[in-house]
Amino acid sequence: MKKTKELYKKYDSFVGFKLKEKYNQNYFISNLKLVIENKKNLKKLNKYDLEILNYVKKDLFFDGTNNRPKFEIKPNVVKEIQTLNSDQIPKYLVHRYRYEIHPQIRIYDDYPPYLQIEPTSICNYRCVFCYQTDNTFNKRSFGHMGHMTLDTFKKIVDQAEGNIEFISLASRGEPLLCPDFIKMLDYTRDKFFNLKINTNASLLDDNMSHAILKSGVKTLVFSADAADSTLYSKLRVNGKLERIVKNIKNFREIKRKNYPNSKIITRVAGVKVNNQQNLRDMEAFWSDMVDQIAFVDYMPWENVYDSKLSEINTPCSDLWRRMFIWWDGKVNPCDVDYKSKLSVGNIMEKNISNLWKSENYKKLRTEHGSNKRKNYSPCNRCVLV
Ligand code: SF4
Repeated sequence: MKKTKELYKKYDSFVGFKLKEKYNQNYFISNLKLVIENKKNLKKLNKYDLEILNYVKKDLFFDGTNNRPKFEIKPNVVKEIQTLNSDQIPKYLVHRYRYEIHPQIRIYDDYPPYLQIEPTSICNYRCVFCYQTDNTFNKRSFGHMGHMTLDTFKKIVDQAEGNIEFISLASRGEPLLCPDFIKMLDYTRDKFFNLKINTNASLLDDNMSHAILKSGVKTLVFSADAADSTLYSKLRVNGKLERIVKNIKNFREIKRKNYPNSKIITRVAGVKVNNQQNLRDMEAFWSDMVDQIAFVDYMPWENVYDSKLSEINTPCSDLWRRMFIWWDGKVNPCDVDYKSKLSVGNIMEKNISNLWKSENYKKLRTEHGSNKRKNYSPCNRCVLV
């Protein structure tokens, strides 16, 4: 296994990214300026949104803002923006800024910029870099395994709609294993700008492909880390490359034949764990099947509670970025802590906004902000900043 970097920078976790379609960045930014300067496109923005949009404008079209990191439009974001109508773009940029910049300057407001909803914690794979290999997690007797009910899911979506635009239907398990997943997709239709699914694609059959293409899923990420079957199965234990290639090709065909206007973005994303993997081979193998190919940096997710103590005092940016809701309603600040030792509450007792602004969450942020992350397990062993 590759030695991990000392710090895992969440806001910069891609170590390789390839887009199939090229674009001209200057041309794209000029058009974006026209869209944002058109008052007709700003009607849905409130005062707070307009303040944030002002920072976006300063960063994209002028010299930026002192004492703040510069907001930039990365290639994956360009593709997302290209799927939106003009009057959706300013609001999207506001949410993108909240996601990218607020965690770096430790600002939070009423809602998390990003919400990960876990349809299930169960997985059919045992990837070598994943906590699903931890027998004190994956055995049902320890109480971590289960599927989210449709009622719990609807309760979460109802609270998120109109307040959070970036949603992932994935966390610790393989979402397609959830018995109600198709009904969940149906319930989210057209409710969010940016709905993402991460899947290993092993269960991506005809029914599931139609359900995804009918839903408002914006980005469909296939988790795969290799371009040859031996390496794939070595990393994605229980997985077969041939099977997922067949499923992904079938998905592409269903899309071509039945949903020619679908704006869904498909991406193969792998975890870069060793030198046998490289982006060039990945591109050669996958580029006919998907729109984007990416590697994210490895960090030792599989054993954080046993990792060596870290010397890191920098606050964890995820405390200002993402909220996770597990299948049983438990709310956690991250999925590195896969056994929920840092849990801040439960969606059955408080709503998303109250949990995000709760004393438990605030205390975690304050302690991290005063060089005391070592007081928390597993933050004391985690390398995410
Ligand atoms: S374990 Fe702590 S430091 Fe690591 S991602 Fe979670 S909250 Fe952040």
